[in-house]
Amino acid sequence: MTRAVEALINLQALSHNLQCVRENAPDSQLLAVIKANAYGHGLLRVAHALSDADAFAVASLDEAMVLREAGVQHPIVLLEGVFDRDELLLASQHDLAVVVHHTMQLEMLESARLDFPLDVWLKIDTGMHRLGFSPQQAKSSFKRLEQCLSVKAAIRLMTHLANADDRQDDLTPRQVECFHVAVEGLDAEHSIANSAGILAWPQTHFNEHSSWVRPGIMLYGASPFSDSLADEHKLQPVMTFRSRLIAVSQRKAGDVLGYGGSWRCPVDMKVGVVAVGYGDGYPYHAASGTPVLVNGQSVPLVGRVSMDMICVDLRACANAEIGSEVILWGDGLPVEEVARSAGTISYELLCGITARVPIVEV
Ligand SMILES: *Cc1c(COP(=O)(O)O)cnc(C)c1O
Repeated sequence: MTRAVEALINLQALSHNLQCVRENAPDSQLLAVIKANAYGHGLLRVAHALSDADAFAVASLDEAMVLREAGVQHPIVLLEGVFDRDELLLASQHDLAVVVHHTMQLEMLESARLDFPLDVWLKIDTGMHRLGFSPQQAKSSFKRLEQCLSVKAAIRLMTHLANADDRQDDLTPRQVECFHVAVEGLDAEHSIANSAGILAWPQTHFNEHSSWVRPGIMLYGASPFSDSLADEHKLQPVMTFRSRLIAVSQRKAGDVLGYGGSWRCPVDMKVGVVAVGYGDGYPYHAASGTPVLVNGQSVPLVGRVSMDMICVDLRACANAEIGSEVILWGDGLPVEEVARSAGTISYELLCGITARVPIVEV
């Protein structure tokens, strides 16, 4: 028997969540974000399951090439654009759309001799202050791209929201306003909304121009907000990270558990050992008390997370025995709750499943 840890991927939940995006933003085109190995769910698997999307977005040329080599014909957008001339040539040969966020990339396009012109998304920085041209540079950059022989006619305009996950923060409406002023009069399709924008800020979806939404985390069935869970948005978890108990033992009051002895049994009690650890992508920083499901019953993690194992307090789970199913997150246990207990976000947990964990489609 192999080690029991595995990540189940529910393809039906992916389709359901895609439909959920459509319902929330019915007038927008859908650019499905599948960077970082589709947030840990498997790039090709997810691309095939989301073939109803209008286009895909990835972070690097390598990811895009994997898609093209597997025969994926959708438009593919490189969210950070290209980093050098060789990449520009490859992007042109494989019909990849590029984000242009920096003068350096603009100059590269202006001096390039490409056999096939490229689709370009011009990125404007409206307050995130990470990537993009300033609002003042938006129109002049757009005009320069229009003159460029290496650029296809329909240039698109985009910006990225910095705080859309906070439904009280007025930065989002200010970013939207800033974007509209910056690109006013330019005849182009727009794209503003990430998952949080799609769910909480309808003014980021649609305007007089045709628009695109860019869902990532919600496709995988996690909430982008710190104060809500996926099911409030009718999203279904796609990944269920699970394993089994490999040991159950009776401990005495005062016994300390695991490395560093950071947790001490308050009474005589039953303790279980689960075959999962940070070597599989379970977060090392998950605190004692982080919920774990054993036979469907929520029990607390106790002690430090090891590379291959964690310990759980089995006082609330009388029927637990070696081989009992353990769910770390997914079906019945929102990844958002585990993330909160580990001082991180669901994005990091989903992306962090390691290569030794078998992926099983269901
Ligand atoms: C990652 C990313 C997204 C998706 O964000 P979510 O919060 O996962 O929906 C959208 N747009 C850009 C530019 C991104 O980099």
